[in-house]
Amino acid sequence: MFDLLRQACDLARRRGCEFADARYLDIRRQRVSSRDRALSGCNDSDDRGFGVRVLYRGAWGFASSPRFEAGEVERVVGLALEIARASAAAARAAGVQWAPEPALRLDYRSSCEQDPFAVALEDKADLLLAANEVMLQNKSVKRAQGYLLFKRIRRWYVNSDGSELHSDVTSSESVIWAIAVGDDDFQERNWKAPSSSRGFESFRRQEFVEQAERVAAEAEEKLSARLAPEGNFDIVTDSENLSLTIHESVGHATELDRVMGYEVSLAGGSFLTRDKKGEFRYGSDQVTLMADNTLEHGLATQGFDDDGVPGQRWAIVRDGIFQAYGSGREFAHYVGEERSRGCCRADHWSSIPIVRIPNLFLMPGKNRLDPEELLADIEHGFYFEGMDSFSIDQWRLNFQFGGNAVWEIRNGKKAGMVKAALYQSSTPSFWNACDATCDESHWRAHGIMNCGKGDPMQIAQMTHGAAPTRFRNIRICRGRDA
Ligand SMILES: [Zn+2]
Repeated sequence: MFDLLRQACDLARRRGCEFADARYLDIRRQRVSSRDRALSGCNDSDDRGFGVRVLYRGAWGFASSPRFEAGEVERVVGLALEIARASAAAARAAGVQWAPEPALRLDYRSSCEQDPFAVALEDKADLLLAANEVMLQNKSVKRAQGYLLFKRIRRWYVNSDGSELHSDVTSSESVIWAIAVGDDDFQERNWKAPSSSRGFESFRRQEFVEQAERVAAEAEEKLSARLAPEGNFDIVTDSENLSLTIHESVGHATELDRVMGYEVSLAGGSFLTRDKKGEFRYGSDQVTLMADNTLEHGLATQGFDDDGVPGQRWAIVRDGIFQAYGSGREFAHYVGEERSRGCCRADHWSSIPIVRIPNLFLMPGKNRLDPEELLADIEHGFYFEGMDSFSIDQWRLNFQFGGNAVWEIRNGKKAGMVKAALYQSSTPSFWNACDATCDESHWRAHGIMNCGKGDPMQIAQMTHGAAPTRFRNIRICRGRDA
């Protein structure tokens, strides 16, 4: 596999390119879905091909093909070079300033005890249908659904630095949900088995059955939930709910390509201008947000990125102060850094690598603190669990987030569910309102498997995490249903 990729890079170099890399990907994907008492779909694909990227006179060219053979590799290198020549004519005066990186040899494999593609479809169906059956036992539940998603990406990467890299990463995700129907209302409640880079071993039938029962009961409870009041309240977010807020208000805001104006479509841009690095108070001193592309089972952990840079761990925000962006080799120089943070990933052999959010999480509190204690000194507030609709502006500044289930807190305790509650804030106000987060024993990881970015859009995956966390005096408003 490496031979042809190396030939591609050598050819590009002989033809005058400053840098070249070549990737071959084998992408296996399977999605099994269920509706009520039957399977509703099974999509299985195996997709292979290669891409060649060349840097010529400071400008990029990229081309790809599903036919991985000598003649085709030569044609694709030629095409990439032709595109780079055309780009060079229109490139910025300085061109691409490419951060150096030593040659690397690495073979990274995620841990996968039970290969999901070797597990029989019957066993997958059994897991989903057992959960659906339990949800349908609840008389208010009129529809029960779920899916399992498995991905295995094998990647061979060679570049003109002399790097030869291989990775083999399997990731799994599952969601089940119940829809309860009342006289004039319907409500959905879901459970996401934490997605991660693991195999089928991450799913246990007993857990699906237990969660299904809770999900159904809470979908029913949502039917009789009262509308949330509007006003300013203290809130507590569970780790799943906060994972999405971290993703949108910290992850995307700290992508350096976005800051530099390279990414404008799809709510691109960022308020986090370069002068804020090392200075800006992003949050309270309770807020330390770590990026870690070496995190075990992390969805963005893949050994090395598609610039040939190994996975790293660094602070994005430490004790409330903004420290560093996520970057790639093309962007490091913009903030005076000599080396990329290793965040450039492509979602397919036919895609160019772009800066993607790393595994990113809120560090747990240093002192022992459990969720009951977190709620205890809230007189009147709200507890947000799970992910729901959200909205954020193109500067990643003003936002609102809902929850899949929201409880009112009265005198330090959960006191009944409310519906249509959204919390509304702006990124620094929100994170500065954080006054406590639970300790390590309550910290959980959650995955995002469908992060969209770029034009044409690419879909990336990454892990976020947090312990239950409290924010003071946050605006609550009503969304849909109100
Ligand atoms: Zn995203």
